[in-house]
Amino acid sequence: MQQGNIGGEGGGVLGASYRLSETNHCPDCGQTQWFVGRMSAECAVCHTALPISGVHRLATGMTRTSPAPLLAA
Ligand SMILES: [Zn+2]
Repeated sequence: MQQGNIGGEGGGVLGASYRLSETNHCPDCGQTQWFVGRMSAECAVCHTALPISGVHRLATGMTRTSPAPLLAA
């Protein structure tokens, strides 16, 4: 089954995001401890990574763009 999901690795749960102002339960294991980075938060238990909600508003210009250079494969 191909989904044509380029660069979808490490995404985890679609639609889920980490909210800085809230307690976030891991969609995978349900715990609430996270390693919070600049652009994403990672579950301390199962390492599910979630994008931080709203972070793209802070970083104008350098958002939503996956700087994935085309790999000449
Ligand atoms: Zn987890």
